[in-house]
Amino acid sequence: MRHSITGSRMLLFFAVLTAFAIAYNLKFTARADARLMNTDNTSPVTNTTPPNPLLAEWEGPYGGVPPFDKAKVSDFKPALEAAMAENLTEIDKIAKDPATPTFENTIVAMERAGHTLDRVTTLYGVFGSTMNGPEFQVVQREMAPKLAAFNDQITQNEALFKRIEAVYNSPEKAKLTPEQQRLVWYDYNTFVRAGAKLGPDAKTRLSQINQQLAGLFTKFSQNVLAEEDGQFVVLKTEADLSGLPQSLRDAAAAAAQAKKQTAAGVIMNTRSAVDPFLTYSDRRDLREKAWRMFINRGDNGDEHDNNAIITEILQLRAERAKLLGYKTHAHWRLENAMAKTPENAMDLMMQVWKPAVARVHEEVADMQALADKEGAKIKIQPWDYRYYAEKVRKAKYDLDQNEVKEYLQLEKLREGIFWVAGELFNFKFTPAPNVPVVHPDVRVWEVSDKTSGKHIGLWYFDPYARAGKRSGAWMNAYRSQERVDGEVTTIVSNNANFIKGKPGEPLLISWDDAQTMFHEFGHALHGLNSNVTYPTLSGTAVPRDYVEFPSQLMEHWLSTPEVLQRFALHYKTGKPIPQALVDRINKASTFNEGFITVEYLAAALVDMKLHLAGDQKIDPDKFEKETLAELKMPDEIVMRHRTPQFLHVFSSDGYSAGYYSYLWSDVLTADAFGAFVEGGGPYDRKVADRLRKNIFSVGNTIDPAEAYRNFRGRDPRTEALMIKRGFASPNAKTSEPGKSKTKE
Ligand SMILES: [Zn+2]
Repeated sequence: MRHSITGSRMLLFFAVLTAFAIAYNLKFTARADARLMNTDNTSPVTNTTPPNPLLAEWEGPYGGVPPFDKAKVSDFKPALEAAMAENLTEIDKIAKDPATPTFENTIVAMERAGHTLDRVTTLYGVFGSTMNGPEFQVVQREMAPKLAAFNDQITQNEALFKRIEAVYNSPEKAKLTPEQQRLVWYDYNTFVRAGAKLGPDAKTRLSQINQQLAGLFTKFSQNVLAEEDGQFVVLKTEADLSGLPQSLRDAAAAAAQAKKQTAAGVIMNTRSAVDPFLTYSDRRDLREKAWRMFINRGDNGDEHDNNAIITEILQLRAERAKLLGYKTHAHWRLENAMAKTPENAMDLMMQVWKPAVARVHEEVADMQALADKEGAKIKIQPWDYRYYAEKVRKAKYDLDQNEVKEYLQLEKLREGIFWVAGELFNFKFTPAPNVPVVHPDVRVWEVSDKTSGKHIGLWYFDPYARAGKRSGAWMNAYRSQERVDGEVTTIVSNNANFIKGKPGEPLLISWDDAQTMFHEFGHALHGLNSNVTYPTLSGTAVPRDYVEFPSQLMEHWLSTPEVLQRFALHYKTGKPIPQALVDRINKASTFNEGFITVEYLAAALVDMKLHLAGDQKIDPDKFEKETLAELKMPDEIVMRHRTPQFLHVFSSDGYSAGYYSYLWSDVLTADAFGAFVEGGGPYDRKVADRLRKNIFSVGNTIDPAEAYRNFRGRDPRTEALMIKRGFASPNAKTSEPGKSKTKE
């Protein structure tokens, strides 16, 4: 059973959360022996239809692996329905147990329940995010409300809640281990927050709201996907390609082919296509065209327009929060987050907002000066920002991202990541070529302990973009580590959207993408290091504003000389990146930080304000415009995710009133890296051991604030964040120039 309201298992890097994540939010699934289940759930013996492969226990090595080779879209609906039905039977058995409620017969029984639906929804999630198509979308639309209703059926099971409450209030609780006590608290709290204490009418209404929301989330996501897939800018002739480096020309040509256009190139309506185009295209008219297409996803007044859906989602969320006894949706969402209240999150955001906006004005002045000098006769507009920022970067820091890219080979960096995991956590990665995968592009590695050889888990890597795959990058846990009945090892995956290179040629990625790789791998390491008893508290199942801490922390290791010298090798000469270039990268580390912080924070602030607004009927476009005006948003920047395409917030409850989490976690990240700097550097084994013991291995078995104190010896401070982003200068007594120089 995995039923965290706060922690879905799919973690994103400024990316998207998928609609079916609702299935992860509150999951009560029943354990089942495969044989037992097949006789239970498939029907009478006379039925000759073969058993549904999705329902079977995972077979093969490593304690079983997901049967990606056997999964068919048509199997999902019957599998989900059978697994839900079976789970309800399991839960019913716990609820109706005549014995006095105990930790073992109630709380642990719930932990034992759940493995069938868990397995089915894992594959359902992988298909939804990486193998999506019209046939699958029909299943999603039908199943999303059903999964929501199913969740409510569990949390609204009165007999079950009474038993949980009895264990929670029992004097016996004090005799349990700290992890067990936390699990009892967690279950009780989760049920109460999901409405377990409400009267029958309120419960009915709550369930209606959740089902309606699930349907709206699905529609919202499918609308964005439709516009990302269906719209593109055609680059007719060679002249339209002006300024683009060869890799982008190749990608644009490949996209034109995919879209059956006889043009020189096509710019797809996705971030990985549009951002580089805005950075390099000399054609201001085409930049504006691509920019408008991208920022208007879901906002075109056509059949894929998301505005009315947003209004409805916000109203339903406000009503639900009221029903549950909270002032607003934001107050409900943040109660169990590390921030605790929206006010705390707002305080931090506003503390960073002002210096970030001031920095943007400086950045724009630099760009304007450069444009004037070139005689461009323009005023910097949003579609000029990336383009001129790149020129300023070259002029001011002599740093050309394309030059850096020549040293950043995807596969070499993957080896670098493995090496870092070996140094910090003693992990070893060995290819596991015979494990079934969902697509031939996916590769699998076994993770084991370098010294003892003990098996730790599996890591799946799905790096390339393809039709039916969501944009962005994310981590997903296919199976959580636990030991309720013997050791179960974890299975995790990292997913990205790199455009496949030419066959036989190494794929080169940008510095930003390399950081994203380290970030997602940080989530994977958080899962792989998990060392807990109960699956509900395992690995990355921690509060949303804490979960980005381990991942953001790992970004710091990319720029360590140890990684760069061994793994940042030129794709032609094989020579390591020259120190002079590294110095220039370091020197420019806070360059453009105004832009990065403001485009992110604008989205985070609008998210929070939308969910603090209560039950007023909101016109999303108007609200966005007014809120940004009030914040004095610089004209030259647009929110990283405008409201009509804000998948984090409207494709599930996942990151709603929670986009601030990246900043919150970054306070911890910057402050925590200081522990290494103050120690023996990034590879100080003692600090790494402390990190593993207190942060990476404990999952949600301990309050995050306490876990952090155990690691750092004190509460986090914001100074390191402000220095990292270049909004404050390192003060003399703590700074160690050269050593503390880290990269955002
Ligand atoms: Zn992340």
